[in-house]
Amino acid sequence: MTGIARTAKTVLISGASIAGPALALWLHRYGFAPTVVERAPELRTGGYKVDLRGGAIEICRRMGILDEVRAHSTDMDGGSYVDSRGRTVGELPAEIFGGREEQDDEIMRGDLARILYERTRDDVEYLFGDSIAALDDDGDGVDVTFESGNRRRFDLVVGADGLHSNTRRLVFGDERRFKRHLGAYISIFTAPNRLGLTRWETYHARPDKLISVYSTAGEGAHTAKNCFVFAAPAELTYDHRDTDAQKRLLADAFAGDDWEIPRLIADSAHADDFYFDSVATIEMDRWSRGRVVLLGDAAHCTSPASGQGTGLALTGAYVLAGELAAAGGDHAAAFAAYEEVMRPGVELNQRFAASFAKEMTVSSRWKIALRMFMVRTLPKTPWKNLIAKKIREEIQKAANAVPVKDYATFETV
Ligand SMILES: Cc1cc2nc3c(=O)[nH]c(=O)nc-3n(C[C@H](O)[C@H](O)[C@H](O)COP(=O)(O)OP(=O)(O)OC[C@H]3O[C@@H](n4cnc5c(N)ncnc54)[C@H](O)[C@@H]3O)c2cc1C
Repeated sequence: MTGIARTAKTVLISGASIAGPALALWLHRYGFAPTVVERAPELRTGGYKVDLRGGAIEICRRMGILDEVRAHSTDMDGGSYVDSRGRTVGELPAEIFGGREEQDDEIMRGDLARILYERTRDDVEYLFGDSIAALDDDGDGVDVTFESGNRRRFDLVVGADGLHSNTRRLVFGDERRFKRHLGAYISIFTAPNRLGLTRWETYHARPDKLISVYSTAGEGAHTAKNCFVFAAPAELTYDHRDTDAQKRLLADAFAGDDWEIPRLIADSAHADDFYFDSVATIEMDRWSRGRVVLLGDAAHCTSPASGQGTGLALTGAYVLAGELAAAGGDHAAAFAAYEEVMRPGVELNQRFAASFAKEMTVSSRWKIALRMFMVRTLPKTPWKNLIAKKIREEIQKAANAVPVKDYATFETV
């Protein structure tokens, strides 16, 4: 191989959720020495059920985790909409409106994070409860100072630290320059299974709000996930690390609402996996500077509205590691190739997210009534298969927007 600028061996990855451990798995396989630093004191297991479709499924297969992913499938039967009195006003069978092809699957974010962590923890150094405080890229390597006070030097640094990426802030500047708020907030947490659900999701729509409660195959009889979406045209001001403040914002947004909402919200008080964030994208002109590169949501969050954030995190990890191995350590060439492969698919998914975010909630009672009418009648129409096919095609376009290239499996770099 020609044109090798330098052999990169040590890689610091900030963030141990999906993108970080997935990258560590591939880098270790290619002969790099990855270290993952995670701000949380232990692996974070909360979050929504996430779709794995198209290219992401193929990448799970290549990672050797597909059987385990399948074993943790949410295996949902479907969902129904209920009105304020709890009466069912429409049903959505999973096979029609899930938009999935046969090979696609759905898994809890926390289960996937745990699978990736368990697959890598014997080969990869994990530093929990720490964070990068400062970075100094001198062209030959990156000197990193951690919040703990430790200092180390790495060949490369990867920011896989999510929507509110610390690495992005340190290297590219304030989050506000890159974040596009899509007009809604989302919250989810584990709670008692108050609606007695089994592999079923119950939705309740109110003007500018959507509540869903579900219990997956792995959840067991006693717990469920309570999920809340509410429209907010302007961004709310709060500290994204202050969980109590976020719980108050959620309670305020749903104050005075009926159905089961008061007790579903009250359960947040006891949730230790409470998640709250804006539905937002991260849009940047470039994802790398010098020896530092961004990955997953840190680089290009597509928001929960896209349904592809986790798939793209897995795909990005596969592509970044593959390009680094293929470039024989020429990180500049690898970062450029990684971005070239990923960007068109990412931008397609961001466009998809921006339009779908507007559909997450509806603004008036009559629009809710119209939506309920469609939910009720569509499964009975003769065109239901045609409509389901159309939905599936759109989703598959987004899920296969990044090509899954074959990369050589170098033992060493
Ligand atoms: C607990 C949790 C719950 C989630 N729930 C949902 C959900 O319900 N719906 C949804 O659509 N998406 C959710 N997400 C986001 C979803 O996981 C991502 O959109 C997607 O999987 C891409 O993953 P990622 O690894 O790029 O980023 P993320 O999954 O956001 O992971 C970023 C990781 O970096 C860590 N981190 C943050 N700051 C630092 C720092 N300074 N130093 C070191 N580490 C840091 C975080 O703790 C986290 O582990 C959730 C993320 C987390 C962490």
